[in-house]
Amino acid sequence: IWERVGRRLRAELGEDVFSSWFKSIEIDLAETDAVRLSVPTRFLKSWIDHHYKDRIIARWSEEAGQPVAIDIMVRTAAGARAVSRPRPVEEAARPAAPVPAPQRHDGTHLSAVQNTLGGSPLDPRLTFETFVQGRSNTLARAAALQVAQSRPTDAVLFNPLYIHAGVGLGKTHLLQAVAGTAQAGGRRVLYLTAEKFTFGFVAALKNQTAIAFKEALRNIDLLIIDDLQFLQGKQTQAEFCHTLNALIDAGRQIVVAGDRPPSDLENLDERVRSRLAGGLTVEIGALDENLRFDILKQKLAHARAQHPGFDVPPTVMSYVAKNVTQNGRDLDGAFNRLIATNRLTNQPVTIEMAERSIRDLVRIAEPKRVKIEDIQKIVAQHYNVSRSDILSSRRTATVVRPRQIAMYLAKTMTLRSLPEIGRRFGGRDHTTVLHAVRKIEGLVGQDPALSEEVEALKRRLND
Ligand code: ADP
Ligand code: MG
Repeated sequence: IWERVGRRLRAELGEDVFSSWFKSIEIDLAETDAVRLSVPTRFLKSWIDHHYKDRIIARWSEEAGQPVAIDIMVRTAAGARAVSRPRPVEEAARPAAPVPAPQRHDGTHLSAVQNTLGGSPLDPRLTFETFVQGRSNTLARAAALQVAQSRPTDAVLFNPLYIHAGVGLGKTHLLQAVAGTAQAGGRRVLYLTAEKFTFGFVAALKNQTAIAFKEALRNIDLLIIDDLQFLQGKQTQAEFCHTLNALIDAGRQIVVAGDRPPSDLENLDERVRSRLAGGLTVEIGALDENLRFDILKQKLAHARAQHPGFDVPPTVMSYVAKNVTQNGRDLDGAFNRLIATNRLTNQPVTIEMAERSIRDLVRIAEPKRVKIEDIQKIVAQHYNVSRSDILSSRRTATVVRPRQIAMYLAKTMTLRSLPEIGRRFGGRDHTTVLHAVRKIEGLVGQDPALSEEVEALKRRLND
């Protein structure tokens, strides 16, 4: 089981987080309802307890098909380990009953619907409080918050709310924040990945409990589906569409996330797509440097609350924010390594140390270099002339304008000087280039059609 659990954790958290924290886990004891894991250091134990234990329990229980109690121990050098067995789940839970409805979701008390329908586990750290707002996610966050805080009696505002973004930009974080908040507000919430929806529906069909499954599905206030791009199979999609329609008609809220806009979900049932398009679609854009810095800051504050010894100076945080540019997962990975480095050396992390430990996460973030040759080629193609026409001294109108546009683009999209551009355009004088640049600048201001063409050319060159 651990192998499967490990594989899933790796897929969910990324290779980096996985190898930082899970590689050294060993299994000391594995019974059907109780498992003991061990790690080499106290630090690892406390980190995993705080951050990943719920997730391990959830995954293990799913793989085992029943609730499993998990205990994490520190291995001693002599191999002497306590042999008492962790208390199985029922036993551990007994003294706590009756459990009052949780005010804040803490990941362990999932609502009844969430359980019945095999909802995906919620990560208690993924809340609105820990979701850092930035330019790229303001709209998505605001819409999600409205939905999360609205009450069953409120008019349904955006239905469905569809959030799309590339990997690691915060979709799951936002959806889980919605789920947790709405659940704490007393609503019946179901948070499911599309994969789980597929799985649940297929299983229900096999067990001939499909009707019960559908009934249960329609009995909720808020349905949240993550990773819609993984909704598989014609029948499942048709069922999903019925569910959407039934819930929407009953005034229930739906929130969906996917990795692309509805129009680009090629394998999606047309009816689902048009239903989605009828709601509100918002995109979360790439994390800009400010947002990356703020996210790191938030993580540091959180980590320091538990381990006050952590010390990562602001300069190092800026360095990481500037250089780890891809997405939130790389940022998580980089942050974990900073912490690990800090723990290993027992010294504040320096920029050199950070540089070494995150090297492979740093994408060379050079802005794309546009080449003059490419400009000439693409402009020529667009105006249906040849590149040698553009370089030639011909002065017919059909060639003069494209040539001027190409020179203008060369000046505005590259760092080349006017004389250099002149040389690259068949040995022209720099004043000729300047004249062309001014000419086009003037025209772009007056002629919307030309301005549009120039913009389109720029986009092609930047692709
Ligand atoms: P997605 O589901 O879009 O692939 P996730 O929600 O899993 O992305 O985000 C990846 C990681 O980045 C998570 O650890 C998440 O908490 C973090 N993250 C992304 N955006 C933000 C944000 N705005 N504030 C705080 N953390 C964020
Ligand atoms: Mg996700």
